[in-house]
Amino acid sequence: MSDQTVTLTLREDEIQRLYNTWKEAEHPCSSPYIRFQLRPENAVITCYTSGKAVFQGKDADVYASPFIRVSEPAETSDFTSRFPQAGSDEVGTGDYFGPVCVCACKTEAQDIGFLQAAGVQDSKQITDETIRKIAPLLQERLIHSLLIVPPVKYNSIHHTYNMNAVKSLLHNQAYVNLAKKTKLPELLIIDQFTPERAYYKWLKQEQTVIRPIHFETKAENKFLSVAAASIIARNAFLQAMDEYESFYGMKLLKGAGTRVDDCAREFIRKYGKDRLKEVAKLHFKNTERL
Ligand code: MG
Repeated sequence: MSDQTVTLTLREDEIQRLYNTWKEAEHPCSSPYIRFQLRPENAVITCYTSGKAVFQGKDADVYASPFIRVSEPAETSDFTSRFPQAGSDEVGTGDYFGPVCVCACKTEAQDIGFLQAAGVQDSKQITDETIRKIAPLLQERLIHSLLIVPPVKYNSIHHTYNMNAVKSLLHNQAYVNLAKKTKLPELLIIDQFTPERAYYKWLKQEQTVIRPIHFETKAENKFLSVAAASIIARNAFLQAMDEYESFYGMKLLKGAGTRVDDCAREFIRKYGKDRLKEVAKLHFKNTERL
């Protein structure tokens, strides 16, 4: 299965979406029958003037999947399949290094086939590699708002707020921003991290508090909007980590275990203790252990 070919006939809007998503990987092509050719990682995508798109290479199916029309949606309960809906999730709160990223994302009934074909339903199972490929497609198609709080900012507010307070503020802010882009649906879902009452308690000082919100644990397995938000947030986190790693010229491990401590020690050796706040969330137990 190392090399595969998927041929699809695409509508004009799909061709546009395909092009917009991967235009940075465009490869010049002079054939009069070829409209454009894209060469993202592990694939060559050729779009012909006829409207046919040929996906070739190891990851051909990954790139093609969002454009394969699915006639039958997977089984979901009445409630989780209520659309439109918007969901939100956060990434990076369990990682010593890196930012906290929160995304709120709106999905409509006509997005279901696209999301399922892209493999969005079980976001926790998706590898980082696939996240990087799916997220740009989701960001292109779905109305969403994304907040990225870098460690420096996080460390400057954390002495006043605890982690649940920070999460509550960010989720609320993500919905406030989403409301500026689109009419918020009636069904809003947060992947629950704190009891509902505590959530609103942390928002007491806020000018705008978005409600009502449905809170549910493991919501990313049940609501496509939360799954999509989770993927977009995860991708933003991965991209930020890539940037830090190349800027500081060293690997920064995810999570908060003892191997992360070793990584932090290496950072201190290279850049000094004072600069740890640029890459790490200092209130974690890891800091004490160093
Ligand atoms: Mg979550």
